[in-house]
Amino acid sequence: MIILQLITAVIGLVPAFFIVKLVLRRRKRKQLLAMPFRQEWKQIVQKNVPLYNRLPDSLKEQLGGLVNVFLAEKKFEGCGGLEITDEIRATIAAQACILLLNRKAHYFRKLHTILVYPDTYAAKTTSSNGTVTVEEQSIRLGESWQNGPVVLAWNSVTGGSSNIADAQNVVLHEFAHQLDQEDGASDGAPILEHRSSYVTWARVLSKEYEALQRKKKEHRKAVMSKYGATNPAEFFAVATETFFEKPKQMKKRHPELYDELKNYYKLDPVEWS
Ligand SMILES: [Zn+2]
Repeated sequence: MIILQLITAVIGLVPAFFIVKLVLRRRKRKQLLAMPFRQEWKQIVQKNVPLYNRLPDSLKEQLGGLVNVFLAEKKFEGCGGLEITDEIRATIAAQACILLLNRKAHYFRKLHTILVYPDTYAAKTTSSNGTVTVEEQSIRLGESWQNGPVVLAWNSVTGGSSNIADAQNVVLHEFAHQLDQEDGASDGAPILEHRSSYVTWARVLSKEYEALQRKKKEHRKAVMSKYGATNPAEFFAVATETFFEKPKQMKKRHPELYDELKNYYKLDPVEWS
């Protein structure tokens, strides 16, 4: 009887424990958000992330708070002998947090760890058709795991962020995958604010994805990288890179796609350039 009472008491404590944890986390986030961007992190970001320098002052200020939370909550691990420095942490965090500006931030809720390699790295993949199993080695700039880490190559991070107009930014790309994966499916449809938005999102992104596939097949020029024609998840990640790095071209050539991303990210990068 006493054991039963004890078990009931412990079970009763579990929800209380999570509620307290949630309240404390919310309070801590509020404090960090209100704190100014640490001067040494700001200087790193000003040097390494030209996109940051384009932001209006109000967004720069907001980004500082988001970076404070991101760096307090996410763990960075160096791989292949790389030692994690403030430069690595701040450069990656600032670009990832650009995707959270102006939105109800969940801070990439499924992500706990960011693994960073010094250079592009080799990864082994295995595929099977039931009869034959093929093992391949591919060179990677980065990857995003559902319920797992984001993996980045530091030389790709610095290369991607320094050229602001090539629509190639591995941090924006991999963290867009994280947003896409938040609903449990990597399918090019992140969680949208209103249920009614999914219909237009699906119509516009499907149409644009198929158009990019046709351009790739016919070897025609495209504003977006043709890697976006791989599958809908890659399309969303590549569209995100293009939205932030080639906003004018995207708005001119793909106004509907630009508007969908503008509504989703609650940002209008054309105004910054
Ligand atoms: Zn990708």
